[in-house]
Amino acid sequence: MSTVAVVGGGAAGLMAAGTAARFSKVTLFERNEKVGKKLYITGKGRCNFTNLTEPSEFLRSVVGNPKFLYGAVNKFTPADAMAFMEAQGVEVKEERGHRVFPLSDKASDITKALTNYCKGNGVDIRLGSYVEELVHTDCGYEIGFAGGEKLLFDKVILACGGITYPSTGSDGNGYLLAKKLGHEIIDPKPSLTDIKVREDVSALEGLSLKNVAVSVCVGNKTFLRQGEMLFTSDGVSGPVILTLSAYISRMDCCGAKLYIDLKPALDTETLDKRILRDFDKYKNKFFKNSLDDLLPTRLIDYITERTGINPDKPVNSVTKSERQRLLQIIKALEFTVLGLGGKERAVVTSGGVNVKEVNPATMESKLCKGLYFAGEMLDVDALTGGFNIHIALSTGFVAGKAAGEAL
Ligand SMILES: Cc1cc2nc3c(=O)[nH]c(=O)nc-3n(C[C@H](O)[C@H](O)[C@H](O)COP(=O)(O)OP(=O)(O)OC[C@H]3O[C@@H](n4cnc5c(N)ncnc54)[C@H](O)[C@@H]3O)c2cc1C
Repeated sequence: MSTVAVVGGGAAGLMAAGTAARFSKVTLFERNEKVGKKLYITGKGRCNFTNLTEPSEFLRSVVGNPKFLYGAVNKFTPADAMAFMEAQGVEVKEERGHRVFPLSDKASDITKALTNYCKGNGVDIRLGSYVEELVHTDCGYEIGFAGGEKLLFDKVILACGGITYPSTGSDGNGYLLAKKLGHEIIDPKPSLTDIKVREDVSALEGLSLKNVAVSVCVGNKTFLRQGEMLFTSDGVSGPVILTLSAYISRMDCCGAKLYIDLKPALDTETLDKRILRDFDKYKNKFFKNSLDDLLPTRLIDYITERTGINPDKPVNSVTKSERQRLLQIIKALEFTVLGLGGKERAVVTSGGVNVKEVNPATMESKLCKGLYFAGEMLDVDALTGGFNIHIALSTGFVAGKAAGEAL
């Protein structure tokens, strides 16, 4: 029976280890004192572990290298992920947007299910085991630990995660192990994160806007999304912004322009008529008091300032060109992007092990026979909605099956 080492006890490593152990002798090494440290904080502690869509639709939400994931997501589908959890005794539920959670709303149930799967199949889980070195020898793979101990395995599955939330254990060290074995690492960048802007928005911190359209123009590309966003102390965040960050994370976005259309349902002409109606209604008031019906209270001072119109000007003396300026700002409130939120606050990593060097049918390295990759370590990433954990589970399943079965 061949021996398999799995490095990393997140969703990918646990799934890979439990699956490989159906056919081989498996040892899982996790640097932390418990497995699944990141899983505990996913989905605000509820763990949105998959998205119940057909694989073809699922792949439309994958931003980084969807084609590479075609085989994995078809071999271990979202329906399989649900059935897997149920078989491990976890009741599940589907929520808005096909997102699937444990019925208990406890992420710990998902970690328990994966751990039980490993234990049930006889995986030897070694906690507090930081793999420092990985060497390909004629007899297999030599794994070196802090303290000098070395162990030999026939095969290795690297599932060390990405660079985000490094306090959970995934701090990018896995890339170094892969790099030393000759793999190219596509520059890992934070994704699904907030966007920092040059303008001072600190006065708006915490203000949430529903149903706005946000566009980001990077070079000659424009990305547009509509929905909910909020202001932070130094930029913007919320669902729409996280999605946009995924599209621009691989680009040099410093200096890019971000526009918020505060009234996407109204075209310019209709909005102008609406403003004129409001100006008429508030004709005896100051300009700053004429926008109450149109904008959230907390935004009025900010918008007024951006128009450059004297806030204490009587509404009936606001000129046509001033009104046009107001209109333009409401339809396209402009910001200059400074960059994305750092790895401490990003949900996922874009970049990682170059998928061109990995066989998508098995997750085996094309450069080192017997070496496999799974999860966020790979240069794959998706939008929010349960896609990223599913990617970890499905690539873990494929890598585990291939590593366990292969002679
Ligand atoms: C706040 C937050 C919320 C999220 N919510 C969701 C969600 O609801 N749904 C969703 O789909 N995705 C979510 N994600 C993303 C998702 O959690 C990850 O994409 C996924 O968990 C990655 O799994 P992984 O197994 O590849 O990596 P990880 O979970 O990062 O696991 C890697 C493991 O390897 C260990 N390790 C690393 N190096 C070594 C080493 N040298 N030796 C030994 N062990 C090592 C680490 O300690 C870690 O336990 C969220 C992410 C964050 C940060």
